[in-house]
Amino acid sequence: MSGFAIAVDGPASSGKGTVARLVARDLGFAYIDTGAMYRAVALFGDRAGLDLRDGPGLAAMIPGMRFAFTFNDGAFQISVNGEDISRTIRSQEVGQGASAVATLPEVRRALLDTQRGLATEQGVVMDGRDIGTVVLPQAQLKVYLDAEVSVRARRRYEELAGRGEEVRLAQVLAELQARDEQDSGRAHAPLSRAQDAVAIDSTDLTPEAIVRQVLRLALARGARRDP
Ligand code: C5P
Repeated sequence: MSGFAIAVDGPASSGKGTVARLVARDLGFAYIDTGAMYRAVALFGDRAGLDLRDGPGLAAMIPGMRFAFTFNDGAFQISVNGEDISRTIRSQEVGQGASAVATLPEVRRALLDTQRGLATEQGVVMDGRDIGTVVLPQAQLKVYLDAEVSVRARRRYEELAGRGEEVRLAQVLAELQARDEQDSGRAHAPLSRAQDAVAIDSTDLTPEAIVRQVLRLALARGARRDP
């Protein structure tokens, strides 16, 4: 990795994806959504008829998955082996599957090399749970975003309802709490704040205000906009 790297970590629906995308767009950096990679593993594993607890089986599938992150018509997309899966992976079901496969050390190891390989020459913004602690510990800027769980549940509920999914707020809150517990309590690369990360509480902040803060920090630490 020789370009400027920004690691954005935090729990589900903390706003990290929105912030990371806007920062990447402003700086002309690549944006790598590592949560989407765990989601893709859950989706492809399920399609292949694999048990989502089968670490070696899922890990063996990963080298055959060619991940591509692109920026088209103002939106970031993820495709695997040429198939755009950006929408398919956003369901609650795939999210739960992702959280399950993310507990498996074989899966984490297999994705780690791919993730590091994606953060090479170019400037990059990468978001996830373990970017500042495990994937890019040498990132020039680390941000840890969090917000009250009730606020995160409401955001997630509005996102799902906006897409036409039939959900109840109480159910979204319960699933979010279960995912928080699984992500923070797992043995391998649990969600945790890197010691040198800048913590931002997004409960009462707009994404734009957070983006301004992150851009200020990045530019002060030597990030340069890619032409
Ligand atoms: O961020 P997102 O909700 O898309 O992530 C889906 C799941 O993938 C999370 O619940 C988490 O368990 C897992 N994940 C992870 N490490 C990352 C990114 C996501 O374990 N770096």
